[in-house]
Amino acid sequence: MFEYAPAPESRDIVDIRPSYGLFINGEWVEPQGEERHKTINPATEEVLAEIGWASETDVDRAVQAARKAFTTWSALPGAERAKYIFRIARIIQERSRELAVLESLDNGKPIRESRDVDLPLVAAHFFYYAGWADKLAYAGLGVDPRPLGVAGQVIPWNFPLLMLAWKIAPALACGNTVVLKPAETTPLTALAFAEICRQADLPPGVVNIVTGAGATGAALVAHPGVDKVAFTGSTEVGRQIARTLAGTRKKLTLELGGKAANIVFEDAALDQAVEGIVNGIFFNQGHVCCAGSRLLVQESIAGDLLEALKRRLATLRLGDPLDKNTDIGAINSAAQLAKIRELSAAGESEGAERWSPPCPLPDRGFWFPPTVFTGVAQSHRIAREEIFGPVLSVLTFRTPAEAVEKANNTPYGLSAGVWTEKGSLMLWTASRLRAGVVWSNTFNRFDPASPFGGYKESGYGREGGRHGLEAYLDWNHR
Ligand code: NAD
Repeated sequence: MFEYAPAPESRDIVDIRPSYGLFINGEWVEPQGEERHKTINPATEEVLAEIGWASETDVDRAVQAARKAFTTWSALPGAERAKYIFRIARIIQERSRELAVLESLDNGKPIRESRDVDLPLVAAHFFYYAGWADKLAYAGLGVDPRPLGVAGQVIPWNFPLLMLAWKIAPALACGNTVVLKPAETTPLTALAFAEICRQADLPPGVVNIVTGAGATGAALVAHPGVDKVAFTGSTEVGRQIARTLAGTRKKLTLELGGKAANIVFEDAALDQAVEGIVNGIFFNQGHVCCAGSRLLVQESIAGDLLEALKRRLATLRLGDPLDKNTDIGAINSAAQLAKIRELSAAGESEGAERWSPPCPLPDRGFWFPPTVFTGVAQSHRIAREEIFGPVLSVLTFRTPAEAVEKANNTPYGLSAGVWTEKGSLMLWTASRLRAGVVWSNTFNRFDPASPFGGYKESGYGREGGRHGLEAYLDWNHR
């Protein structure tokens, strides 16, 4: 039988420099310190480029540049700012194939996802917030809201360019300037974005990119010239940042971890639910804060659902992220792989049953097969802790009340999914879930117009939509 097998996406379309400096005041500058870091392709362990590590002095330079640029950027009419942001959005669209390859090389995610999900959402986010830039004063948002000043933004490695878009687009639309620190393992698309800012003729200092590890992020967050901090990352680091900012006048939004429940009731459309479960936990190798990592299935259909799920998982293809047929790419780093292995071993030792489809793993790079744990108890670590990998923990329930009780039995509150054909059951359940997003008969759907954010240890503040503007505006001045 003929099987359509498209050629792998070519890595030759990206132009990666051997080494990168920092992007400050519209220019590439060498970091003051000697320290450099190698960013690697997690699928092959090949070195992609050397990256400068920004010191406290470098961060200070970037914040000073952003402060200086704030005076003119914030004074521009909204319609003028919109032109720049629209231009950025269009360049992203024009360069999206190249950016998708770069993202897959640096992150390990399948090209199908970076090309068809990440990049379209990145462009959409800039288009959406460009549309707000000239409407802020007239949209009934409050009393002539004003920008806050310099935004210090720190992002993780799971959606490098998309998290950048979530942070930078609303900040610029509202008239703020930005210093952004990408994650240490995935700096390349943020550095490509710096070039895009130049291509769009964005005034120098409006966007500054400082690369580095946690210390660079900590220096940025603590800098007295920063007015607002936006952080996406782990709950542990989010807590540290909240402590650093306590007692300061800085505004803070935190987008942190999750342990979402994907609840399947006995009347759900089974095949559709299976696709939603697969998308919920295996999309982006499970490196998703809102991943449906806990499957709560009604006891009466648990056997049938698991059988169908296992059949479907046996068809997933793991391998080269640049191959257009690949469903599961590489784990982003050796450290993340070690964490996934450690928690999976804990699942077994605590008595859950582990299953993976036959799945040969490449010899080089960081890989973990799609994995399902059944017989999971609520007290098990794999039911409580964020694994951030392609690992599903399956629990069962008998009644809707029990499903809600189990779904909410987590310190997190970012997202949830509900699968049922009954509208009343859907509404009854969704209204009782303590989660920032509840998807109904779908999972992992995003739209720039829709706010996103968590309850409890998943953070506070919202990104996306009109709510996302609030974090970048001063509502209190008179
Ligand atoms: P992480 O907290 O280790 O790192 C995130 C970023 O913070 C990186 O850029 C890192 O260099 C920086 N950082 C580390 N220590 C710092 C410090 N003391 N001060 C300031 N910055 C510091 O998280 P990670 O491993 O990169 O990302 C995974 C986590 O991110 C998961 O927990 C995931 O759930 C969460 N996440 C949440 C969302 C959301 O929207 N809620 C989205 C994506 C990822």
